[in-house]
Amino acid sequence: MNNSMKMEFLSLSQNEKFARTAVASFVAQLNPTLDEIEDIKASVSEAVTNAIVHGYADSVGIVYITCDLKDSEAIITVRDTGCGIEDISLARTPLYTGVQNSERSGLGFTVMETFTDEIDVTSAPGEGTTITLIKRISAQAPKSE
Ligand code: ATP
Ligand code: MG
Repeated sequence: MNNSMKMEFLSLSQNEKFARTAVASFVAQLNPTLDEIEDIKASVSEAVTNAIVHGYADSVGIVYITCDLKDSEAIITVRDTGCGIEDISLARTPLYTGVQNSERSGLGFTVMETFTDEIDVTSAPGEGTTITLIKRISAQAPKSE
């Protein structure tokens, strides 16, 4: 099955749940397991939270999401046009957080890497960040009506 959607919303924390739920319900067409749905929700949640908290740290901007379904793969992008990341490999290091004295644990990228099959990060300081997440959905027997 091939299908695609895109959405955009303000970088307000109350929109994070909306975003992860919307992506998960779109991917539901591929008949994922509950575990696969939870993996997608967790990963989208981390990417969207990063856009809100880091990308647009002291401002409100727009978060853009696309989701493409190609055969049994969900390809999800989460993009902001915020501050960008100076050192991507440092940012991806487990337990690294760029925010001092906060409740951040530096595990967002680790969660995304653990719960998806592929992740790509492109970012430029002052221009913003795009996270691409690929999740392969296992073949399941079709649901009986
Ligand atoms: P946690 O996700 O555990 O609450 P965290 O957000 O600090 O903590 P990661 O999600 O792994 O940890 O991100 C690591 C760091 O990468 C962030 O602290 C931030 O400095 C930088 N970063 C991540 N996403 C973005 C983004 N969209 N824009 C700018 N910087 C980002
Ligand atoms: Mg994070």
